[in-house]
Amino acid sequence: MTEEKPKDNVPDLENMIKDLSEYVQKKYGNKPIVNIAPAFSPPHSPPPPSKKDQEFKLEFNYTPKQVKEFLDRFVIKQEESKKVISIAVCDHYNHATHDLARKADYDYTKQNVVLVGPTGVGKTYLIKCIARLVGVPFVKADATKYSETGYVGKNVEDLVRELVQKADGNIKLAQYGIIYIDEVDKIASAFNISGRDVSGAGVQRNLLKLMEEAEVSLRDPMDISSQMEAVMEFQKGGKIKPKVINTRHILFIVSGGFAELAGIVKRRESRQAVGFGGHIGEKKQDHQYLQKAQTRDFIEYGLEPEFIGRLPVRVVCEKLDEKDLYHILTRSEGSIIKQYEAAFDAFGIKVAFTREGMREIAKLAGREETGARGLLTVCERILRDFKYELPSTKIKRFSVNKHLVKNPRAALKKILHDPRSADDSDVRASVNRFEKYFLKAHQLKITFTPEAILAARGQAEEADLPLEKFFSLLLKDYPYGLNLIKQHRGEQEFVITLEAVEKPGETLSEWIKKAYH
Ligand code: ADP
Repeated sequence: MTEEKPKDNVPDLENMIKDLSEYVQKKYGNKPIVNIAPAFSPPHSPPPPSKKDQEFKLEFNYTPKQVKEFLDRFVIKQEESKKVISIAVCDHYNHATHDLARKADYDYTKQNVVLVGPTGVGKTYLIKCIARLVGVPFVKADATKYSETGYVGKNVEDLVRELVQKADGNIKLAQYGIIYIDEVDKIASAFNISGRDVSGAGVQRNLLKLMEEAEVSLRDPMDISSQMEAVMEFQKGGKIKPKVINTRHILFIVSGGFAELAGIVKRRESRQAVGFGGHIGEKKQDHQYLQKAQTRDFIEYGLEPEFIGRLPVRVVCEKLDEKDLYHILTRSEGSIIKQYEAAFDAFGIKVAFTREGMREIAKLAGREETGARGLLTVCERILRDFKYELPSTKIKRFSVNKHLVKNPRAALKKILHDPRSADDSDVRASVNRFEKYFLKAHQLKITFTPEAILAARGQAEEADLPLEKFFSLLLKDYPYGLNLIKQHRGEQEFVITLEAVEKPGETLSEWIKKAYH
């Protein structure tokens, strides 16, 4: 056996492999044990070598505006954050491309980012969207799960290994990945109540090594199966192939609520204001203070100076109000509404969320005080029984309107006991009657799409109106508007879409504008 290392030290990788190798040899002789290893692979073992390894070339051709436009499709509000992150991401990946082409003949400071903001406001979502746009792997973890040595708790290097897993073993691709570490405020010493100050600072130190540039072994010293793999390699060839990943181009994002940070900035500002004879009459929101946070404020909070120094891009995400939550439902391409539509669609059930229904959901979600996460909590609460009951009935469509959101139980009971909800014939008959009436009264042929009918049904119920009456109110400006189009373009037939039902005025103006241009 090789020389013993002191117990409290991280074992030397090579010695450990040699020890293991000798042990395996003694116990199993030279019998091949290759097949045993995969069965024991824990989730964090290194990925199998992949052929794709040689197949990645970083290409990044976006301007900050294009990145922001992409983010706008998914992330609501957070305008300043989206802008700052777009710039940082362009700098980071442009530099990586230059560096690869050996054109980077300048000193470069990595654009690692610290995101400050409460829970559920889109911090992670922003970065996930970026990773999707650039086409690189993304790993998220909580800072509190890591420890300095990695013996108790995880080792920060695991994050880099996880990137390789996410990249399907493609090391080249993983080298441009994004590592997101949440809850870094909890490893700041000043506000550490768990008494783990020392290891918190230690984790920060370990992280900063990675943020700079480090070579991380893909073999986890704590993971027996990856060590076994090395042992086998050692037995076969007498050599261990170094498998490392360089962190030079990995983008690090850290985030946290930093609840007390606004107070620190406020105190500093008032000290300065007094010191310079200024007045402190102005009342500012926490958000405004956070935006002014400087390196020294983060240090006072308890972050290590070197750590916060490696995070030059600072971004503050705003709280989301009820209106923002409503916009997340109605405008974001990542809206959870799609998730619910798909969940019901899997059973052949069409669900339509009305505007008023979504407004009500946003209102309830706002009270949860968990940002956009509240939307999911509320939707789960109100739709859980529908998800359970409806798939085993004949009901093929229903609307999530204001009444349903306010009283889901009563709405479910009504749907289950109302035979019309399983049978569309009377709805179809009303629609036909209205289409005929419209043709006769205005000499205009209109037809409704199935989505438009479903949405209109929900809104009519909400307004407590029969469907035909609802249609005539909804489309009150359409006879005049459609006749203008007809006269100008000669069009005779018009399709009333979902959009027209949801935003009748805007849609009609849009149609008229198009006809005239
Ligand atoms: P956190 O700020 O705690 O990192 P997340 O980004 O994980 O919050 O938000 C949770 C989910 O809520 C996201 O996956 C996304 O669906 C939704 N969400 C949060 N904020 C926004 C936002 N500003 N715009 C659109 N969706 C959002």
